[in-house]
Amino acid sequence: MRTLKELKDLYSKNELKVRELIDFYLKKIEEWEPFIHAFLIVPYNEIEKQISEIEKKPKNLPLYGIPIAVKDNILTKNIRTTCASKILENFTPPYDATVIRRLKDNGAIIIGKTNLDEFAMGSSTENSAFGPTKNPWDIERVPGGSSGGSAACVSAGEVPVSIGSDTGGSIRLPASFTGVIGLKPTYGLVSRYGLVAFASSLDQIGPFGRRVEDVALILQVIAGYDPMDSTSSPYEIPNYFENLGKSVKGWKVGFPEELWQKGVSEEVLRVLDKSFDIFKDLGVEIIEISLPSIEYALSVYYIIATSEASSNLARYDGVKYGYREEAEDLISMYKNTRGHGFGSEVKRRIILGTYALSAGYYDAYYLKATKVRNLIRKEFEEAFKKVDIIVSPTSPILPFKLGEKISDPLQMYLTDIMTIPVNLAGIPAISMPAGFYNNLPVGIQFMSTFFSENRLLQFAYAYQEMMDFSSKYPTLPQKRRT
Ligand code: GLN
Repeated sequence: MRTLKELKDLYSKNELKVRELIDFYLKKIEEWEPFIHAFLIVPYNEIEKQISEIEKKPKNLPLYGIPIAVKDNILTKNIRTTCASKILENFTPPYDATVIRRLKDNGAIIIGKTNLDEFAMGSSTENSAFGPTKNPWDIERVPGGSSGGSAACVSAGEVPVSIGSDTGGSIRLPASFTGVIGLKPTYGLVSRYGLVAFASSLDQIGPFGRRVEDVALILQVIAGYDPMDSTSSPYEIPNYFENLGKSVKGWKVGFPEELWQKGVSEEVLRVLDKSFDIFKDLGVEIIEISLPSIEYALSVYYIIATSEASSNLARYDGVKYGYREEAEDLISMYKNTRGHGFGSEVKRRIILGTYALSAGYYDAYYLKATKVRNLIRKEFEEAFKKVDIIVSPTSPILPFKLGEKISDPLQMYLTDIMTIPVNLAGIPAISMPAGFYNNLPVGIQFMSTFFSENRLLQFAYAYQEMMDFSSKYPTLPQKRRT
């Protein structure tokens, strides 16, 4: 299995045909899927159509003939998009999301739609209405969530790259749990047009890959202003390759005491210890910093995210989209459709959000939460005046067993404690594989200031040169267990 650059070279030397590469990956998908269930849909007919179209296109397209997997909350024309929800089980979008259009225009082939927690609400991919995804490193454990499918398929080598969405950690947590790279870009850098909205002020699409340069290439293709998304930034996109390989010597790297002290497990700390030696070798200066308001990040997130979700999900009413359960009168039709169409976590969020927004409580909860959110953003802004990069674990714990946290929502919510502050601030962050504990992957998170992805990628690349897990793959389990 190869990097995108190697594949591109093979194509340009005529040593590889699109069909050969796609067949190679389809075979991997057939081998692994019975064990991990990363995909909800592999659209064989659409893949055929895309192959014939690609073969007519110039080979110098940045993603010529590259298969990519897409989280199933991103709209794909003619390919079902379910959000892993019964309510959208039979929904086929009439148009492509902007990111999909950009990927296709640049030569990529959409090879499948990946599993997720229903409407991206969760941290383990167990909230999918169509059954959970398993972690390729141990199929009794979760791959993280909510983009568990997009992470697991890259981890198992079913695809070289994929995309997911990150509202509170949904790219970085599963990247960490499955030993791959996951990037959440700055809010506004990548268009959300065609991303099914969960919490619109936090949602952002980003790539998964095995090498920093692969992730940079996908970002290069998907980033940029889109008039169809009112929150899209007019920021001019730099060349994300120009800094890769450059030294980071003398950079200031901040360690927020709040993210290294409380609740990080011994196992995770033990693995991440090695990264400190790497930072020394890279010649960076380590600076202890403090982000005191981060303490409130989880509470703030679960008010803002649920409030926005309760509003965004009002559109699934049995009239406009998807599932509908007939009844005697309109109100009963709504009740039946939404009562049976949504899973329990989604309903919990709608109820919490509706409560937080209801008359009399708005100021006490939502308004207060947005104020604390501003404090958190300001603390990051201040910190980035002193440091170039901020480092934390991506997850406080190792990948856990299926079923272990599903009946305790609060425990599940706590897995995002390291990633959520980043979404509230709107800054970019990347999770890099940092090592293994008993064959279970552990990730490290690097954060940087708004629209500084080129510096973030430079730092991640320097780290990767010292610690590269891109050629380490999980082994295919022997016995089928579902
Ligand atoms: N796990 C978090 C939640 O359940 C984040 C999900 C996400 O980023 N989509 O809301």
